Amino acid sequence: MRSTATATRCQDCRQLVIAAISTDALETLCDVIPLTRAGELHANLAGRRTMRLDTDRRLWTTGAYRIPTEPMPGDLILAVHICGQPIPAAWTQPLPQPSEPTTDTEVPF
Ligand SMILES: [Zn+2]
Repeated sequence: MRSTATATRCQDCRQLVIAAISTDALETLCDVIPLTRAGELHANLAGRRTMRLDTDRRLWTTGAYRIPTEPMPGDLILAVHICGQPIPAAWTQPLPQPSEPTTDTEVPF
């Protein structure tokens, strides 16, 4: 049923996209820029569907029910392509990492 994802161009806007038959058996185009986990949440809240591309290049439908689950290692979170609606940069930026404690944590005895 599933085809592996391939890079192609959207026939309407010519943007580079990732195309595959998703687990919903629908031809699906995704933008190529992977989202962060927070970006996936933002995208879903904004009504943008998201997919997960696994290491076998299969495209999996995701949704609110999968938000709490961690992607498998190597999986990419992609937003479904919508012509003329590029992915906001805020969805793709890594979250600021908590800074490493620089104070001496050695126990003083
Ligand atoms: Zn397009």
